[in-house]
Amino acid sequence: MAEYDYDLFVIGAGSGGVRAARVSAAHGAKVAIAEEYRVGGTCVIRGCVPKKLLVYGAHFAEDLKDARRFGWNVPEPCEFDWATLRDNVLSEVDRLNKAYSQTLDSHGVEMILERATVSGPNEVTLASGRTVRAERILIATGARPSVPPCPGHEHGITSNEVFHLDRLPKRILIAGAGYIANEFAGIFNQFGTKVTLINRSDVILRGYDESIRDRLLQISMTKGIDFRFHAEFRGIEKMDDGCLRVSMTNHEDMVVDCVLFATGRVPNTEGLGLAEAGVEIDAKGAVKVDADNRSAVESIYAVGDVTNRVQLTPVAIREGQAFADTIYGGKPTRVDYDCIPAAVFSHPPMAGVGMTEGEAKNRLGSVKVYTSDFRAMKDVLADRHERALYKMVCDATNDRVVGLHMIGPDAPEILQAAAVAVKAGLTKADFDNTVALHPSMAEELVLLK
Ligand code: FAD
Repeated sequence: MAEYDYDLFVIGAGSGGVRAARVSAAHGAKVAIAEEYRVGGTCVIRGCVPKKLLVYGAHFAEDLKDARRFGWNVPEPCEFDWATLRDNVLSEVDRLNKAYSQTLDSHGVEMILERATVSGPNEVTLASGRTVRAERILIATGARPSVPPCPGHEHGITSNEVFHLDRLPKRILIAGAGYIANEFAGIFNQFGTKVTLINRSDVILRGYDESIRDRLLQISMTKGIDFRFHAEFRGIEKMDDGCLRVSMTNHEDMVVDCVLFATGRVPNTEGLGLAEAGVEIDAKGAVKVDADNRSAVESIYAVGDVTNRVQLTPVAIREGQAFADTIYGGKPTRVDYDCIPAAVFSHPPMAGVGMTEGEAKNRLGSVKVYTSDFRAMKDVLADRHERALYKMVCDATNDRVVGLHMIGPDAPEILQAAAVAVKAGLTKADFDNTVALHPSMAEELVLLK
């Protein structure tokens, strides 16, 4: 041990790094963690948490309107104040940031609030110039937004800045078609901003079940979001009045107040000294690791978004936990990547687990699909004309449910519980044998015909 300052040095205090550091320390390791921005990482500081709070805030636009149909006297117009929501969300982020720091502290993890780079298989150099030696190094540096290199791209913002806007833009152009683009399109649209989403192809939310994403597209268009497909950025020009003129392929120029790039995330490996230390990096910049999160260098490991396996918080946390239990807990553990549930917190939200109908047809050949296309009871009374859609995909040879996909109110909350059944390999008959909980939306899952 004297050879090293620490048993483990973790670079990056996000979802994966914090879990790995805390659990390794609890297993008895001497651990330090370096963070260049804020403890908590993307999820807590500028990802899942503030995003979900904005989604809640945005949903009041519909709730308040619907409330009138339920007898509530809601003044018209009903005003929304962005600064109040923004500041309350940012204070909650501050609270969580402190809570994460306290957790590390109470587990005896040394926190170093500086950028760190790798300067050898067992050596880390801090921004202050200090070098430290560690028996093992864990790279948990996450990912960052990627921005297309078009002229004027510096006038746009990314999800890093969106939580801090001084005021709500009247018109926003969102580039991208993944979950972050669609979530912010829904958020801003509910706040009354004119939203245009532009995308290089004509497919949104690639990888999600086709019927579910088609339903979201249809509902989003009905709610007033404009979609421009086959549109690639040519450039952004800042005009004298501060507005942004955006030019793109196949469509006319647009003038907006804000451009939000949600065009993917790239692993944070640049300038980290990894290649020089012998760590292999793939074509997308991700650290290549084996099933035990070990890189090409024996003493260097990586977990979370920087490995570009599944870029989700619960996955980063599991990888961090598996690393700590395997190396310091005497309990070899590997993450099971099968049946990871995922959600899009759009308006309405969608969620899915397992194979989409398309994937199941390709992989299994013979599949049975059951759907329920319905209007939620609450939406009927509210005179809201959007329909929920649930889809169950089964292996036709043995009745096993291999995929569950849904869009509608509370879809992520319902899907998390149903994902247990899919992961456990239950059959359609098992769902049918469960008595419905009435009246609920979730009961549709046990009443599928
Ligand atoms: P991170 O949480 O990104 O942590 C990496 C940390 O390393 C950062 O704090 C960074 O500052 C630090 N760092 C980087 N380089 C260095 C260095 N050289 N020295 C010191 N520190 C360094 N996931 C979900 O599961 N559900 C969601 O709803 C969801 N919503 C999201 C919404 C948005 C807008 C975004 C951007 C992401 C969202 N995600 C969501 C993804 C989720 O945030 C990430 O998958 C998760 O945070 C990955 O954890 P991580 O530990 O790999 O990296």
